Amino acid sequence: MPPYELTEKEWDQQLFDRKTGLATMLGWNTWHVLRPKGSPAGLPDRLCWRDRIIYVELKREKGKLSDAQVRVLTALARAGGETYVWFPADLEAARDVLQARSFQHDNPSRWLAAGCRMDQLTEAAA
Ligand SMILES: [Mg+2]
Repeated sequence: MPPYELTEKEWDQQLFDRKTGLATMLGWNTWHVLRPKGSPAGLPDRLCWRDRIIYVELKREKGKLSDAQVRVLTALARAGGETYVWFPADLEAARDVLQARSFQHDNPSRWLAAGCRMDQLTEAAA
């Protein structure tokens, strides 16, 4: 299926399915908010840990970050959290991050604080 047609759930399964997800096969453990009620608004979809911790917000290809997501993701990144927003078209970048054994400082485009999709961040924060 072309990446732009994936729903967020299908995109999530591609990465985090408990048997066949890419992250699962690469040894990552993940947790996600099943019931957002009672949780702070804007928490990223996935908290993942293996040799390090990463925070991942997933979006369908035309998805937009909410203001609360921008606030939380930016705060996590500024606090030193390795924080990503991944769209289906980012599969290759996501694979690189998930395969890496340490944070790759040489690729700022994958780092929310420096990159994310700045157009979306700017729109959402405006
Ligand atoms: Mg999401």
